[in-house]
Amino acid sequence: MTAVIAIMNHKGGVGKTTTTLNMASALAAGNNAVLIIDMDPQSNAATGLGLNAKAIQAGSYELILGDKKLQDVIHKTDLPNLSLVPATFQLAALSSVSPDDEDPEYWLRESLEQDDIPFDYVLIDCPPSFGILSLNALVAAHKVIVPVQSESFAIAGLQQMESSINDIRVEAGHDLDFRILMTLSDPSQQLHQLVDREVRAHFKEHVFQNAIPVEPKIAESAFLGRPVIFHSPNSQGARAYIRACAECLQWTQEEGDNKDLAAYRDT
Ligand code: ADP
Ligand code: MG
Repeated sequence: MTAVIAIMNHKGGVGKTTTTLNMASALAAGNNAVLIIDMDPQSNAATGLGLNAKAIQAGSYELILGDKKLQDVIHKTDLPNLSLVPATFQLAALSSVSPDDEDPEYWLRESLEQDDIPFDYVLIDCPPSFGILSLNALVAAHKVIVPVQSESFAIAGLQQMESSINDIRVEAGHDLDFRILMTLSDPSQQLHQLVDREVRAHFKEHVFQNAIPVEPKIAESAFLGRPVIFHSPNSQGARAYIRACAECLQWTQEEGDNKDLAAYRDT
């Protein structure tokens, strides 16, 4: 059984890549085999794992186009149980597809269906847009984590996101559950408290109980290329991600709610 989770928000700088890396690392530390697929041409997932993004020859672009098989674009990382399909800058070319292309939003899902996937979790790091790359991630995913920064327009952005997720649910014919993760949270700021309360009142059980605080060690760990749960495991930020990971495990393991990719073949 492989659970595929897209980490998505059309805004940049809200903690998508940080959440992908730390959720993935925490799941991997709990003895799950985890694969990150980077769908953002900025290639930040590779950098955040200490890999030299410029030296990477093939990744999600080649996978999506069917030029390479999954096993040929998987890079092992220094961290146990954690592998990466990196993004290369060519991926940006996919941001616009020709009208002649048939069902381009299904490319990633079809690529993943080619092989048996030897992973318990696949986490897909999305770019900051609603374009074809994010659509590919949503169509391939069973679940979506939406990192949200506490700011004035959070609710409006989230309603837009929810409606996109609903569209995919209808179009791709699969159940696509989502959870919001409040990130870069600073409870000493009244605005953050207000937004946090409003988001929780509106989206209820669709919000992770744990919020991720603003944490200097997280920014530092990104610079050093090592997820914070390994770089500084006792920091507030690392602890928050580990607690959020426990929630994620519970969510993905809810009975009857964890589909494997084979289920798609019948739809
Ligand atoms: P996105 O992928 O949504 O663009 P990132 O995960 O790259 O966002 O985060 C944007 C920047 O904010 C990065 O420099 C990252 O290190 C930093 N950052 C993310 N989360 C936190 C946090 N909780 N505390 C401090 N800095 C953070
Ligand atoms: Mg990112």
